[in-house]
Amino acid sequence: MKFVNFSRTSEPSLVRIGCRFGEGCLDATGAIRAGLLQFPRDVSMLEEVLEVEGGLEDLETQITALGSQSGAVGPHLFDESAVRLHAPVTRPQKLIGIGLNYFDHAQEAGIAVPKTPLLFGMYANAITGPDTPIVLPAVSEKVDYEAELAIVIGSRARNVPVENALRYVAGYTIVHDVSARDLQFSEKQWLRGKSVDTFAPMGPYLVTRAALKDADGLAIGLRLNGRTMQQSNTRNLIFKVPALVSHISQTMTLEPGDVIATGTPAGVGYVRNPPVFLKPGDVVEIEIEGIGILRNSVSGPSHPNKPALGADR
Ligand code: MG
Repeated sequence: MKFVNFSRTSEPSLVRIGCRFGEGCLDATGAIRAGLLQFPRDVSMLEEVLEVEGGLEDLETQITALGSQSGAVGPHLFDESAVRLHAPVTRPQKLIGIGLNYFDHAQEAGIAVPKTPLLFGMYANAITGPDTPIVLPAVSEKVDYEAELAIVIGSRARNVPVENALRYVAGYTIVHDVSARDLQFSEKQWLRGKSVDTFAPMGPYLVTRAALKDADGLAIGLRLNGRTMQQSNTRNLIFKVPALVSHISQTMTLEPGDVIATGTPAGVGYVRNPPVFLKPGDVVEIEIEGIGILRNSVSGPSHPNKPALGADR
């Protein structure tokens, strides 16, 4: 099942939970408030559902059962094209990136394949939703794109063995791991180049584990202004979903809502000849089979502390 955080264009700050339902989208928050769905508390964002043990699976089961009595659902159905979608997770306790996790990408970068997963951290300030702009910072001239499958954790995971690791996964989404290469490679840590405001677009859906299992064998691709730049498959991941969850949980307790971006395949811009970097006006689309398309435009540097030219007119 595909879940979203959305708001109506008439009430942009009022976020609600929705899910794909037939040809439309069901307002799950409204259906809970109307008593059509049972949930132990009022919820308006997916992170609040994940905080309830088993909450997402429970909603999924109830919504599937609603299908046969769709007459009652009518008032809570909406057309997805008429609403604004937000990132499915907006304030995770941890947003973890994995570097060099596709064989072909490690090769194009000229870096040896890591023997253990290469982890780096990002902060929630980087998260933005579908159809919002990636804002280029004035201090970077080499901003690159990276298509990534992302894992959303569903329950607390500590020291979990690989064979049980999937149980702790709520589902999957797409993260665009936008990367300022000049900042990333001028420092030993990647944080500054990876955690720029708006550099982690996420969405459009949180697709449940029941639908995607271990997310192995999914086509993943990225288009820049309609031109295919990355095209691979999640079967080419060096460390796959269960291995990543297990590995990270040996040192960090993973909490519901934590997000792990699993790494990007070959085709990134900085290794191309000539190199390709994002510029204002670009449109980037990442598509992962079974999840959907995450589309973001690119806009130029903003200088909030400087008055815009002509602002005094
Ligand atoms: Mg990456």
